[in-house]
Amino acid sequence: MNILMVSAEMAPFAKVGGLADVAAALSRALASRGHDVRVILPLYGNLDRDRENIRPLKKLPPLALRVGQEVHDVRFHVRGSTSSAVKIYLVECSTLFEKKGIYTYSDGVGFEDSLARSSLHGQAALLLPRLLEWPVDVVHAHDASSVPTVLYRKHWYAGRQVPGPAGTLLTIHNLAHQETHPTDAVDTLGLSRTLASYPGLLEFHGRINLLKAGILGADLVNTVSPNYALETTGDEEYGCGLQEILQSRGQDYCGILNGGDYETWDPTRDKALAATYGPDRLAGKAKCRTALLKELNIAPENGQPVCGFVGRLVGQKGVDILLPIMSRLAQDGFAFAILGTGEPRLEKAMREVAGRHKTRIAFVDKFDESLAHRIYAGSDLFLMPSQFEPCGLSQMYALRYGTPPVVRWTGGLADTVADAQQNEAVGTGFVFTDSRPESLLAALRRAQVMFADSDRWLELQAAGMAQDFSWDLAAENYEELYKTTVSRQN
Ligand code: ADP
Repeated sequence: MNILMVSAEMAPFAKVGGLADVAAALSRALASRGHDVRVILPLYGNLDRDRENIRPLKKLPPLALRVGQEVHDVRFHVRGSTSSAVKIYLVECSTLFEKKGIYTYSDGVGFEDSLARSSLHGQAALLLPRLLEWPVDVVHAHDASSVPTVLYRKHWYAGRQVPGPAGTLLTIHNLAHQETHPTDAVDTLGLSRTLASYPGLLEFHGRINLLKAGILGADLVNTVSPNYALETTGDEEYGCGLQEILQSRGQDYCGILNGGDYETWDPTRDKALAATYGPDRLAGKAKCRTALLKELNIAPENGQPVCGFVGRLVGQKGVDILLPIMSRLAQDGFAFAILGTGEPRLEKAMREVAGRHKTRIAFVDKFDESLAHRIYAGSDLFLMPSQFEPCGLSQMYALRYGTPPVVRWTGGLADTVADAQQNEAVGTGFVFTDSRPESLLAALRRAQVMFADSDRWLELQAAGMAQDFSWDLAAENYEELYKTTVSRQN
């Protein structure tokens, strides 16, 4: 099949979180199953064109595209070689994409022209197949920022202009990010105002809501784990207000578990590490631990665990329930390696607690891919006490790196981590259910006890490292959805 991925992120060069990893790994898995996969992204201002081997696609003409009242000059670029398995196209538009970020400024404030950016990205995405004379079977849009593609396919290019059946699939990586705007912002999208007023597709509680429109407008919709699909249709809070909209799609909404990108995340050949290691030779992991502690200038008390955290410092990730127990655990000898950026209040609180326990808690408030690898490898436990978690990739990487995750029983975490005490045979980590600091503390205490039993700990690490969340299986499931979207175009 010919598959066009429309995504704002793609690892490793345009990454904020899991969407980037998924866009890259799913595309690769589909390509290796014989599909022609092409990805289109904005050419962000911070991308180093030389380093990333991004160059203009001279055979395509420069274009002028209208967004609201403004006309923007646009040019297509390509990254790497056009003969590589997944072709990556980038749309240059200096007036909209020159900012050095994907969604926000460096202080975390969202771009004020996000809708215009999404509109241009969406238009460019649908023009590309025509310009390339490449009939597209499926347009696979990711998250709210790519919903304009779905809407343009439905309302502007219905049955024409986009060569091929061009069925649409929308994958929701996080229901909390919906992209809502005042109704008059519909003019920026260039869509009919009737869509912005009740009962129009875009209208939701007196505003326009891109994700809602995408859920109703795409041929099929999925999210990134079976459990999160259940939670978001069965619980108002998880549904973030869109529970009934999702329910209305019935069988057209499902959950497909993400895979782990084991090409990038493989401790047996990870170049970021002080030493490589595998399930049969864990000595390298001990070296990684020593190197990490030295790099971050921290040390646990003898025999106590090092807890790693790599993630966005936001409420979703359970940082609020982690912070209140860190001091106590640091006093008890735990060490913490925390890597993340996010909400200023959480960064501040994390800085404070790290400042109070300098020898035990290291907080690095950066995005640092290489340090992330060293934390997964050098920690004894990986913390993911999320309030909600559509799938979560970090716990999959932690498992592969022999670092048992401590997770809340939610979303994809519940689909991927089993509690080591409750399921001795298949357990891979420590699971707690409610989101109180005491519950996380109790899970960490259980982990502390098991950590002291080195034979049992080795068994636990081995069970985790043997887990295989395969992209090939996910790709097969996506193929089924693609076939259905195509069949609906006739
Ligand atoms: P989400 O998509 O909600 O952010 P996931 O667990 O699905 O969460 O994916 C997060 C990805 O982003 C992982 O690959 C994780 O290692 C990476 N990541 C998050 N924050 C940082 C950071 N500060 N530095 C490096 N990598 C990070």
